[in-house]
Amino acid sequence: MKNIVIFGAPGSGKGTQSDLMIVKYGFGHISTGDVLRNEIKNGTELGKTAKGYIDNGQLIPDELMIDILASVYDTFGTDHKGVIFDGFPRTIPQAEALKEMLSKRGHCVAAMIELDVPEDELMKRLIKRGQESGRSDDNAETIKKRLDVYHNQTSPLVDWYEKEGIRNHIDGLGELDRIFSDICNVIDKL
Ligand code: AMP
Repeated sequence: MKNIVIFGAPGSGKGTQSDLMIVKYGFGHISTGDVLRNEIKNGTELGKTAKGYIDNGQLIPDELMIDILASVYDTFGTDHKGVIFDGFPRTIPQAEALKEMLSKRGHCVAAMIELDVPEDELMKRLIKRGQESGRSDDNAETIKKRLDVYHNQTSPLVDWYEKEGIRNHIDGLGELDRIFSDICNVIDKL
C-alpha cells in the first residue's frame, strides 16, 4: 500500500498529476477541494459552511476537515493499493491528524511529493483555469488570498515532511510528461 500526499500551491498541478497516477497505479484519490465543492453542489450543511471559506480563499477549520478526511478514507476499505491525498494536509495539525488517523489503521503515508512551481506561473495557470472552468475561487483577488494562505499556513509542511524523512521535491515547471516521470521515479522506489 502506497499512500501518497501530493503537495503544492494552488495551481501547481496536483489534480492533473493525480489523474495520471490513478490510471498508472490504480490508486484511490481524495481531493478535499472536490469533496467540499460536491457538498456545496448538494446544498448540505457542510457545503453551506464551506462555501464562505472557499469563496474568501480561506481554509476550512481543521476539526471539520479531519473528520471528513477519515470518513472518505474509510470508503476505500482496508486493503487498497494506496490513496492519493490531494489538497490535504494544508496545516501542520492536519498533517499530524493524518498520521494518527492512518497509524490507527496500521497504515502510513509512504511519500510526500512536492510540486514546486514559481509564483508568477501559478497565477497565470489559475487565471486561465478560472476562465475555462468558471471555478468561483479562481479570480485574481481570491487567488492572491489563497497563495498567501499557502505561504503562511501550508508551506511549513515542507519542513515537517522533510523531518518525517518522506519529502520528495519535484520541479513542477515544464513538460507534463517529464513531471509525471519524475513522480513515477519516486513511487517506483517505494
Ligand atoms: P482546492 O481545490 O484543493 O484548491 O481547494 C479549494 C478550497 O477548498 C481551498 O481554498 C479551501 O478553502 C478548501 N480546502 C480544500 N482542502 C482543504 C483543507 N485540507 N483544509 C482546509 N480547507 C481546504
